[in-house]
Amino acid sequence: MSTETLDLEEQVVLLLAQVREELLNRLRYSSVSHDNNLYTQLSEHPEDDWVAYLREKAGPSYKELVDKLERLEAAQCQFDLGLFGFCSDCEEPIEDELLEHDVTTQRCKKCESLVKAREQ
Ligand SMILES: [Zn+2]
Repeated sequence: MSTETLDLEEQVVLLLAQVREELLNRLRYSSVSHDNNLYTQLSEHPEDDWVAYLREKAGPSYKELVDKLERLEAAQCQFDLGLFGFCSDCEEPIEDELLEHDVTTQRCKKCESLVKAREQ
């Protein structure tokens, strides 16, 4: 395993911890009592269940953070399976610069541009 791969894996672990902490803090100190209740319930849930739980219970203002958490969990899972850094569409290695920019990148440049073209 190259040092580069290790760095990215460390990044994922670090970002995961940050996003989870941010979610907890936002719920805990929210002025909405529903959010405060969620905070209490979330602390009793295993971290692996947070995404599914928050998708169901948390308001739309949390969507971005939950999406980020989900992408990071997927990246961590791919590390565990030895599949990290491969394009989800064509299975070719994703360009290093893309992964360095965003460690949760799921597609290589070529496939990403195809997806973008389709969306327009
Ligand atoms: Zn691809």
